[in-house]
Amino acid sequence: MSAPLALAPQRTRPQSGPASSDPWREVRREILGRTPEDRPIEAWLLGDRAAELRILVVGGQHGDEPWGSEAVRRWSGERAARTPTPDVDANVGVAAIPSLNPDGAARGTRRNALGNDLNRDHLHLQNPETQAFHHFLRDYRPHLVVDVHNYPARRRHLLARGWEIDADVQVGTPTHPAVRTSLAVSEVAELHSTLGTSLAEAGYRCGPYTLFRPSGRARPGTQHVVDARNGIALRYGVPTILLEGRDPGRGGTESDRERTIAAQQRALEVVERWARDHRSALLRGPPIPRRDDPVAVDTGWGPGTSVSEFVFRRKSSGDRVSVPWPAHRGEALVRSSVLLPRAYAVRADLAAVHRLLAVHGFERDRAPPDPRALAEVPRTLTSRDPDLPPNESPPEEIDLAGYVVYSVHQRGGRALAVWLEPSSRYGLARFGLLGEAPESGRPPAVVRILGGGYPAPARRSEGTWGEAPSLPIPGRADRAPIAETNLLRFAGPSDAPAP
Ligand SMILES: [Zn+2]
Repeated sequence: MSAPLALAPQRTRPQSGPASSDPWREVRREILGRTPEDRPIEAWLLGDRAAELRILVVGGQHGDEPWGSEAVRRWSGERAARTPTPDVDANVGVAAIPSLNPDGAARGTRRNALGNDLNRDHLHLQNPETQAFHHFLRDYRPHLVVDVHNYPARRRHLLARGWEIDADVQVGTPTHPAVRTSLAVSEVAELHSTLGTSLAEAGYRCGPYTLFRPSGRARPGTQHVVDARNGIALRYGVPTILLEGRDPGRGGTESDRERTIAAQQRALEVVERWARDHRSALLRGPPIPRRDDPVAVDTGWGPGTSVSEFVFRRKSSGDRVSVPWPAHRGEALVRSSVLLPRAYAVRADLAAVHRLLAVHGFERDRAPPDPRALAEVPRTLTSRDPDLPPNESPPEEIDLAGYVVYSVHQRGGRALAVWLEPSSRYGLARFGLLGEAPESGRPPAVVRILGGGYPAPARRSEGTWGEAPSLPIPGRADRAPIAETNLLRFAGPSDAPAP
């Protein structure tokens, strides 16, 4: 890693002195939980906590990416220093978590003190940091989540050709085809183009988040549901934006570091303005999952036969060069889908699965007096033959005593299919959590309920985010009340006497 950046906010220094009654000058600080090394995880609340439109910004999941964290701090401070203007709308609230991984930041490591990558833990939630984050997320109920990182511009196989990645900021949005958020595909595309245009006007280069593989493939990231951008979007139906600022690298100068921070800060300003301008789209919430909605469970990327132009920076001269990249295709492929059942039943002894669903706030259905239901057993897939019908067993009456039932008619119900279908490429079967092979003689781990003894539940409201988990959240008992002592104050232009 390059030299550690001084993390103390620079233009955002907290002020002491007489309390201001102006909420726009105050940032309320909430402690979401504590890290394994007992550091507090802070969220800074700007504007009304119950504002009509709420944006959650998280930085520093990776402790060795201090520039993104610093951008979140500066953006928060500058925003707090402004009085309400058309750019800072009173009906827009922000929660900013500058550093979700303060242990890693203190060590300069990507992973937390337990050695875990927090941005691979948004499915399993096995770390205190991600548990506290999801607990806060369900409490704050944002309409948009922005995940701020830094990407390495220098990759060995690119340097071998004399190139570095050029963009000041790369922008990613969810890639798993099962994700359905409040935003239509065209609105996501418009967000990308607004960011590109607005950053260009400010003198920064912006591109789509892209992984250039040594094999020659280029992809807009993985489709894995363990990271924040896919995991949160799938579970909550909330649109997510990945902002990856260019890591200035070992040889980066102070001016390179400042450029990265400033570009990400600018990107956050653009995102907030875009969100305000698309308020009605964000407020409408995700579509409620319905029976027979198709959900992609076996997915991948297209074969990569198209050619795209990417701009690189020449290592030797710093000049920009446009390179035709022969094996790029951004479109996701769906190899197989399932039609959503009415509910999923999970065998009661699969404790790890129930724990996981509980910690994500999924609600259990009440068992009916008659546990028989019209149901089917999903195919456990060893084969990925797209010509096979999606369901292995014909519907039959199954006794669901010994099962726990989760309706898909709740926010994030599509996630149940992605996580629970045994054929899901990125689901729990991959982690060994769905039990043994079907020929074990045990009842199937997962059953799809189509009807019968389990009546169709009343349509649940869009606002059902799920209850807080019953599990203890480390550090929750220490959560400080929102109090005067927890107000940060930021200097701002209005501190100056009027001219
Ligand atoms: Zn990162």
